[in-house]
Amino acid sequence: MTNPVRTLDPTAPPAPSGVWTAPGRVNLIGEHTDYNDGFVLPIALPQAARATVRPRSDGLLRLYSEQGDGTTVELDVTALTPGGVDGWARYPAAVVWTLREAGHRVGGADVHIDSDVPTGAGLSSSAAIECVLAAAYNDLYDLGLDGPELARIAQRAENAFVGVPCGIMDQMASMCCREGGALFLDTRDLSARHVPLDLLGAGLRLLVVDTRVKHDLADGAYARLRAGCERAAALLGLPALRDLGPAGLPAALDRLPDELRPLVRHVVGENARVEQAVALLDAGDLRALGPILTAGHASLRDDYGVSCPETDLAVTAAVDAGALGARMTGGGFGGSVIALVDAAAAPTVTAAVETAFRQAGHTAPRTFAAVPAAGARRTF
Ligand code: ADP
Ligand code: MG
Repeated sequence: MTNPVRTLDPTAPPAPSGVWTAPGRVNLIGEHTDYNDGFVLPIALPQAARATVRPRSDGLLRLYSEQGDGTTVELDVTALTPGGVDGWARYPAAVVWTLREAGHRVGGADVHIDSDVPTGAGLSSSAAIECVLAAAYNDLYDLGLDGPELARIAQRAENAFVGVPCGIMDQMASMCCREGGALFLDTRDLSARHVPLDLLGAGLRLLVVDTRVKHDLADGAYARLRAGCERAAALLGLPALRDLGPAGLPAALDRLPDELRPLVRHVVGENARVEQAVALLDAGDLRALGPILTAGHASLRDDYGVSCPETDLAVTAAVDAGALGARMTGGGFGGSVIALVDAAAAPTVTAAVETAFRQAGHTAPRTFAAVPAAGARRTF
């Protein structure tokens, strides 16, 4: 599996036909619910992937990333096959392959990517580069696809070409979020509502702590958990775990084998937490979101089993230092933690997490404050 790579001089971006941008995301609440047809509540980050894209008429897809390995990867769009491209270039190549698979008559392009979304930090740098390509191709080749349709293309790209069995949340967040709000998304039918989230107006900050660890078991565990949820739904005779509500939970648990019960408990509780969180945001009670975040973390740690010592420590240190609430965000086994804090407490909480990591001998975490940013769009 080698790319037909030629090392060219890392050139300046191509004379643009256009420039597009697509953000990373953090999920406020609703973790491991998107592959159970459930609810999620992400915001887009100000950190985003930008792509300068110019179509080509010779069928070549030429990909360069400022965060890549210094080479330009050159691929023939008619010869793209899952498993046939390796390294970072498979993410953008996947989108072109998926569009063509879906019957869209798209060709090659010169693509120059530059992203400030931290990679592998659970902030969806992969969805950002998929969605930026999807948005660019949609405009350049006049495909007329809407945000959810492009998100589906990007998800299928990651599932079928890259080989990651992710749900739809990351791509929907990157495509469809709006500045100043969270996206309340029903992953069953992709119906979505923008919920205002004026953190600064409420005197709050949403800290994102990149723990800078990613444990190896992440990929295998994700597939296993997903399969466990699907097995539980099948045993219960439900299309998906989303179809089980809190009222039906005790009886459902009685019908399941021991090993599946914690998974089902998490998914049912987590969907309810998303709905509670949305109700609080609608009521303008942003501070009350804190305990929901912390309860979500406990469920991921104790029932779903996807936290790790570093994320647990960041959450505990943040809450002990006065955060209103905190939880791991993203798939787990490392990645990032979010903490909702009063603006005045942000420096104290940040310092407390840093101190806790130093004392435990962990790599220093990176912390920034997030505000809800816009989804994918053309910027030039
Ligand atoms: P996450 O999406 O949480 O950041 P993933 O493991 O899903 O983590 O995706 C990270 C991968 O995406 C990187 O290893 C790299 O292959 C690719 N990637 C993301 N952003 C870029 C970029 N700007 N340039 C090149 N590759 C990128
Ligand atoms: Mg990813």
